[in-house]
Amino acid sequence: MLQHVFVPTDIGEAIDRLREGPGTALLAGGTLLMPAVNNDVTDLRALVSTRRLPLQGIALDGERVQIGAATSLAAVGDDQHLGFLRPVIESIASPLIRNLATVGGNFFAPQPYGDLAVALLALEAEATVVGPDGERQAAVAEILERGVEPAEILTKVAFSRPASGSWFYTKAMRRKLNSASIVTVAAVIETGDAVIASARVALGGAGPRPVRARAVEAALIGTPLTAESVQSAAERVSADASPFTDAYASAWYRARVMPVHIRRAILGE
Ligand SMILES: Cc1cc2nc3c(=O)[nH]c(=O)nc-3n(C[C@H](O)[C@H](O)[C@H](O)COP(=O)(O)OP(=O)(O)OC[C@H]3O[C@@H](n4cnc5c(N)ncnc54)[C@H](O)[C@@H]3O)c2cc1C
Repeated sequence: MLQHVFVPTDIGEAIDRLREGPGTALLAGGTLLMPAVNNDVTDLRALVSTRRLPLQGIALDGERVQIGAATSLAAVGDDQHLGFLRPVIESIASPLIRNLATVGGNFFAPQPYGDLAVALLALEAEATVVGPDGERQAAVAEILERGVEPAEILTKVAFSRPASGSWFYTKAMRRKLNSASIVTVAAVIETGDAVIASARVALGGAGPRPVRARAVEAALIGTPLTAESVQSAAERVSADASPFTDAYASAWYRARVMPVHIRRAILGE
């Protein structure tokens, strides 16, 4: 039964509160945590809110972007410098949820959620984490794979904006709006001398957490960006994907349509 909600203004104080756990958790937008608390399906006794912590805001330095972990998804979608992320944000839940939901919380959303995390994986974002032992940097891929320690807080993410024309995103859903992912594809693909010079392709709906489609990336590099080469590379996705069955789609269906959505994302079909 929940007994306390702390609203610290200082990150050190928040960490001290989290160290009092187990039974203590960080509360960001609460879109995932609060339904669990309200339905009494957690052992939580205390929440530590990020609301008054200095974890909000978006900063741009040249092409480098830094986003505070407690920044809402709506704020990311509204930012004039992050227009390429607007389709990602608009594919997530509803405006109501996006006003509350945070960038940090999206990392810890179980699949088939975590669409912004998929995008940040393709962007090779760097995360900053603060805990009892101080501050550390970690690749977003590592945070997605290992999470953070119980008394650690993800404080911000940083990445470089992709060059014009190199960003690709699609999310296959059951409904056009407010639906979790069947397959999410985010990619940064750069061409030079008429062939693909570099490729980063990240997937949602392809396993217990967002993953890089390494075999697809390897097959794309050095080929021209044509329907044939993209189709052929996309067929390699099974090497990195372990699709699952849930209320939205079966593992069989996800495996079938994954190459199709990779092709559609990259070719803009
Ligand atoms: C109806 C509905 C539809 C949804 N649709 C989508 C969708 O289409 N796509 C999608 O991606 N997601 C979706 N979600 C999931 C969710 O809303 C988002 O992923 C959101 O970004 C979670 O953020 P939050 O701030 O609300 O997290 P919270 O609920 O506050 O926290 C979730 C977890 O993350 C931890 N956490 C939060 N911030 C930090 C931090 N800075 N450091 C360490 N731990 C942290 C919390 O302790 C908690 O364990 C949906 C949710 C709902 C309820």
